[in-house]
Amino acid sequence: MGDETWTIIKTLRWTTAYFQSHGIDQPRTDAEVLLAHALHLKRIELYTHYDKPLRDQELKTFKSLIQRRILHEPVAYITGGKEFWSLALIVTPDVLIPRPETECLVEAALDIIPEGISLDILDLGTGSGAIILALAHERPGHRFSAEDRSDDALTVARKNAQRYGLEKAITFLQGDWFEGVQNLRKRFDIIVSNPPYIPTQQIEPLSPEISQHEPRYALDGGKDGLDAIRFILRTAPNYLTSNGKLFLEIGYDQCPEVADMVEELGCYKDFVCRKDYSGNNRVVRATIE
Ligand code: GLN
Repeated sequence: MGDETWTIIKTLRWTTAYFQSHGIDQPRTDAEVLLAHALHLKRIELYTHYDKPLRDQELKTFKSLIQRRILHEPVAYITGGKEFWSLALIVTPDVLIPRPETECLVEAALDIIPEGISLDILDLGTGSGAIILALAHERPGHRFSAEDRSDDALTVARKNAQRYGLEKAITFLQGDWFEGVQNLRKRFDIIVSNPPYIPTQQIEPLSPEISQHEPRYALDGGKDGLDAIRFILRTAPNYLTSNGKLFLEIGYDQCPEVADMVEELGCYKDFVCRKDYSGNNRVVRATIE
């Protein structure tokens, strides 16, 4: 980028090619999202202002963003935001970037969360708060709790709740899995969680965006990927009401193993596995006997 005039369209073309040459997966999309962020515009406005030249300061800001991106920092951490269930969430490197697959977990839970009566609903490992915020947004009037072992993650989740006026609707708890709810001495009608479920050995070969930038504890499910799932399945019965339901996001190939675990435990009924939009098994539901 020399001294010539950089219009929006020219900047986009140049950046797309630059990202491409650095092996960035979605070069055009990322160029658009980052440029829109640098210019405080909506993405669509890049095209309605395509021949507008960038000011020096704008160009400087944008250059610093593209330098971060070619080091494979995820776009969501660079912009500090990610959309989930139509909510514009704040994300930082303290939290997992919410994925579209996780919207299936929200859908599955919403299917059985009624309007009118008030239930106790808990999200374990809430991270950015994506799941509990989507539920609280769609079904106000229930009692929502969100737990995470990371205080930094809880700070992000609280800010997200404030953004949507939901800070009073959700109780935030710090602790490792059920530790945070132990003292409450209460049971929940619904527990949801998107726990870490990637086998340790499979993390390194993932894209550097994930393996080098997202919080390891939010991804790593131990040797077979099932440590957290196993623990939650085993412990949740102590925290669920009778007929209470547990919803877990799982890896695309983990349904048979999770089904076996549920069967062995013998305290659940109605095991259901639901597919995501790519046709992979993604969410399991188990109900307490
Ligand atoms: N509950 C958060 C999400 O679904 C974080 C999950 C995690 O960190 N494993 O995005």
